[in-house]
Amino acid sequence: MIRKLLGKLAFLSLLCIIVTGTVNFANAANVSSSGGTSSSSSYSSRCSHSYTKKSTLVKYLVSSATCTSPAKYVKSCSKCGAAGSETFTVGKALGHSSTNVNKKDAGCTTAGYKNGTKCSRCGVILSGCQTIAALGHNYQYSSVTWDGYTKATLTYKCSRCKGTKDVSTTDIDNEVTTKATCTKAGTRTYTATLKASKSPNNTKKTVTKTKSISKLDHDYKYSSVSWDEYAKATLKYKCSRCDDTKKVATTSISSEVTTKATCT
Ligand SMILES: [Zn+2]
Ligand SMILES: [Zn+2]
Ligand SMILES: [Zn+2]
Ligand SMILES: [Zn+2]
Repeated sequence: MIRKLLGKLAFLSLLCIIVTGTVNFANAANVSSSGGTSSSSSYSSRCSHSYTKKSTLVKYLVSSATCTSPAKYVKSCSKCGAAGSETFTVGKALGHSSTNVNKKDAGCTTAGYKNGTKCSRCGVILSGCQTIAALGHNYQYSSVTWDGYTKATLTYKCSRCKGTKDVSTTDIDNEVTTKATCTKAGTRTYTATLKASKSPNNTKKTVTKTKSISKLDHDYKYSSVSWDEYAKATLKYKCSRCDDTKKVATTSISSEVTTKATCT
């Protein structure tokens, strides 16, 4: 009898566990779906949603407050908590947080800006900070490299950043600037021209290079002779160009009878 009763109780307990377990399982499913982690389609289709609740739980947050706009949330279902799509705002925008900006000078190739203020949070310019355009290089002629007498490469240097720029030209003329003489070399001057339109600073530039012209040799021509008795003769030569004279003595003297003497 007792044994039969115990058996009955055990059966009831088992049944109870099964039933309770089923209920718990159903509850767990509900908690999960109202937790907001599932998609809205998992909400019970039995709820005719009423998206009227303005809950500020984090799960309804669309965007936090920024400098210019308040925090934004989506409305939720007042019955089941499902998130809707209509939004509402809470509080005010944060407003910008002004901080000073120190000016930066413009460089040759980089722009600068004036003093001003900006928002330390979002970085937007609040006042001033006007852009100062890049200055561009301030090229000045520096040096030249010749390639023979046919090409010259001019180097320009920026007075600010020391950057350099090379420009070549084959526009080269030449003329004799000092004539060679019998005793002194002359000079031929080559002038390379860089047009303003090709110059880094829009200014025409000429550079020169000289070439020596060999001195000329005297162009001696016989001029006169002076005799020292009959043993020596000194011949005088004169340069046709510079009038320089040169004397050459000779004792190589021969004689012959050119006209026979007669009585008279
Ligand atoms: Zn609902
Ligand atoms: Zn801001
Ligand atoms: Zn520069
Ligand atoms: Zn001469």
